[in-house]
Amino acid sequence: MTDQLQRFLFDDFEIRGEIAQAHSAFEQCIDNHDYPAEIANTIGELLIATSLLTATLKFEGKITVQIQGDGPLSMAVINANQDLEVRGTARYEGDTTGLSFSQLIGKGNLMITITPEDGERYQGIVALEKETLAACLEDYFVQSEQLATKISLFADSHATPVQAAGLLIQTLPAHSDTHEEDFAHVCALAGTIKAEEIYTLQNDELLFRLYHQEKVRLFEMQPISFKCGCSQERCLSSLASLNETEIKEILEEQESIDMRCEYCATTYSFKEKDLQILFTSTDPKH
Ligand SMILES: [Zn+2]
Repeated sequence: MTDQLQRFLFDDFEIRGEIAQAHSAFEQCIDNHDYPAEIANTIGELLIATSLLTATLKFEGKITVQIQGDGPLSMAVINANQDLEVRGTARYEGDTTGLSFSQLIGKGNLMITITPEDGERYQGIVALEKETLAACLEDYFVQSEQLATKISLFADSHATPVQAAGLLIQTLPAHSDTHEEDFAHVCALAGTIKAEEIYTLQNDELLFRLYHQEKVRLFEMQPISFKCGCSQERCLSSLASLNETEIKEILEEQESIDMRCEYCATTYSFKEKDLQILFTSTDPKH
């Protein structure tokens, strides 16, 4: 199965859906990080949630979905763009064995930041008050968009290969008289989906299993891929905030300054000769 997002619509109901699978993008997010399963799976769910959210927004630009809390998982974040290039990371401490999502987070928030290429930045925040990330996101849609939404998220970092997938069902603005019943019916069936089915079935087979009595139209697949924007140049420019004396002090104690990207775990190493460029600028501060 390739990593992809696919929209579907019901011909007879004012309801849309999105299905996402992102097994290799999930693997690349957690590779070289040694996350405990509970943390890795939260990243997987957040990755799928972000992909599903991206589908509900019409934008050209970047989206960041971040959770923060006072529990063992202090922060997890996924960055994505309109082309569904994603990356993610998390910060945690202590033993997370067996902890549920709400136990990992403690008291916390979900923040969604959209930075369009043109136009103003938007930020939405919702308190994480439910037992699962999926339920917290459903809250977000009700509170910020007044849209009834059902979300199912699945991630398994112990599977070989690792698995991450999810489903979103959302009401469309126009309402028929039977809309509430229709929505409840579609959500009840979505609730019967099993992780194994969404991990392995083709989307048309999956939708046929769930909704063989309904007319469902599938739209074009959009690929999801892992991409980290870090580079030697970006790390170097972040070192430019230090002055020559500070850098020389560090280099007296160690041979190089090493910077590890917290997203993709690439380490960039700078020796004195690599840093000379910072001191030869025409900026009078240097
Ligand atoms: Zn990176």
